[in-house]
Amino acid sequence: MSGSQAIVSFILEKELTSIPFSLVAEEDSGDLRKEESRETLHRITELVNDTFASDGTIGISPVSEEDVLKAIDTGKSEGGPHGQHWVLDPIDGTKGFLRGEQYAIALALLDEGKVVLGVLACPNLPLSSIARSNLSSSEDKAGCLFFAEVGAGTYMQSLDGSPPTKVHVSSNENPEEASFFESYEAAHSSHDLSGLIATKLGVKAPPVRIDSQAKYGALSRGDGAIYLRFPRRGYIEKIWDHAAGYIVVAEAGGVVNDAGGKPLDFSKGRYLDLDTGIVVTNPKLMPALLKAVQESISEKASSL
Ligand code: AMP
Ligand code: MG
Repeated sequence: MSGSQAIVSFILEKELTSIPFSLVAEEDSGDLRKEESRETLHRITELVNDTFASDGTIGISPVSEEDVLKAIDTGKSEGGPHGQHWVLDPIDGTKGFLRGEQYAIALALLDEGKVVLGVLACPNLPLSSIARSNLSSSEDKAGCLFFAEVGAGTYMQSLDGSPPTKVHVSSNENPEEASFFESYEAAHSSHDLSGLIATKLGVKAPPVRIDSQAKYGALSRGDGAIYLRFPRRGYIEKIWDHAAGYIVVAEAGGVVNDAGGKPLDFSKGRYLDLDTGIVVTNPKLMPALLKAVQESISEKASSL
């Protein structure tokens, strides 16, 4: 099953289709409406119709190019602190997707500004731990689906339909034994700063660099104990890049904070109101991690 089919099946199985439809999503149809995109739009519409035709659960008659453009533009909701809003990133980690590596389809539900449900499909993430494995040589190609509901824990199943199992973050209290995740792309998160933090903490393993919210999924099942994200100054984080991953980790017993130690706030609209970075780990390691983060940020600032 593809990642997006798995998410559609999840919504149908859980009977979530009655939730009022307000969607916060990354894409709009602007580029696809340009003259030079005519062929691409035609091909996308064909693919959408092929997918509907091959998926017995959805009885929808063929859609037109205009239907596809309108569907993409339904993601313009502003989110915020009131009511319910779906938050979608249809391809998170586009750079990983283009390299044939990690990417995710990420869907979350906000209720009165809080994330209450998250589903994360990671089509290239092996079912077995990636903590120290060579990802490109992994034989295990099934792909993973993580899902979490507030108060009900986090589960993982394979995209080919194995039964779900409950997952938990690592209980590791010793940073020397912890491995940590960060962006593959150095432009998305400072590898220098995370290196400094890791040295301060005594982390011995090299960083595991992968794209997308697959990092949150892998962390939720204990593949590694820490995820560090430090975008360049001025970059504004979007809620669709974190909402599903956030609840997948939180319900597995992990903590997702900004670099100052505050929980992420998804009630402010399409963007997260933070300017320092995002740090994720288990509750036992968080105090030492935040201390190392603060010291490293100050050291880096004073060396400039
Ligand atoms: P990752 O794969 O974890 O590096 O993050 C992928 C996400 O980073 C994409 O979905 C983008 O929305 C987002 N992104 C794009 N540019 C930047 C940037 N300069 N800094 C941080 N994140 C970015
Ligand atoms: Mg994204």
